[in-house]
Amino acid sequence: MYPDRFDSSTLSTEDNNILTEFNTRRAIVGRYIRQHKIQLFTCPSCAFPTLYDKGIFEVCSICDWEDDGQDDEDADEIFDGPNGKLSLTEYRVATGYMLRTLCHQEKGALVEEPVYILTIIKQHEARMDAFHEEHSMNVDDDHPVWQAWKKEKMKLRLNLIRKENQLLS
Ligand SMILES: [Zn+2]
Repeated sequence: MYPDRFDSSTLSTEDNNILTEFNTRRAIVGRYIRQHKIQLFTCPSCAFPTLYDKGIFEVCSICDWEDDGQDDEDADEIFDGPNGKLSLTEYRVATGYMLRTLCHQEKGALVEEPVYILTIIKQHEARMDAFHEEHSMNVDDDHPVWQAWKKEKMKLRLNLIRKENQLLS
């Protein structure tokens, strides 16, 4: 059985701009983590360094892509696995628009320097770990702990956006 494929020739100019932004970010962040021998991998969907390993079904804390091993070489294929009916290419484009919308809402731009990106993600991980340590994992789904946990996840995206009035600082 051949997997279904997404026809990437149907992408608009703007969609392709989004993919270019993705590729640029991945190249810059990827080079930095290799040069500094940092044990992280860039997410195949958002390009932020959120993964501890490759293809072990970690869920990206920024874009929610589940790393099922799909990457550039088969990006147009629709695996119909944990990421549903979207090819990686479509998920990249959707993630790019989601981040762009957030930037417009916050009147800012995504942080580009790898050193700041890594610091922000590390701070987030530390806060998320504190949740697991402070609270037992067997609290109910509607417990306030989980609301706070979800809020913390949202905060990561917002922290990656530098407000216009902070651009010069
Ligand atoms: Zn991601």
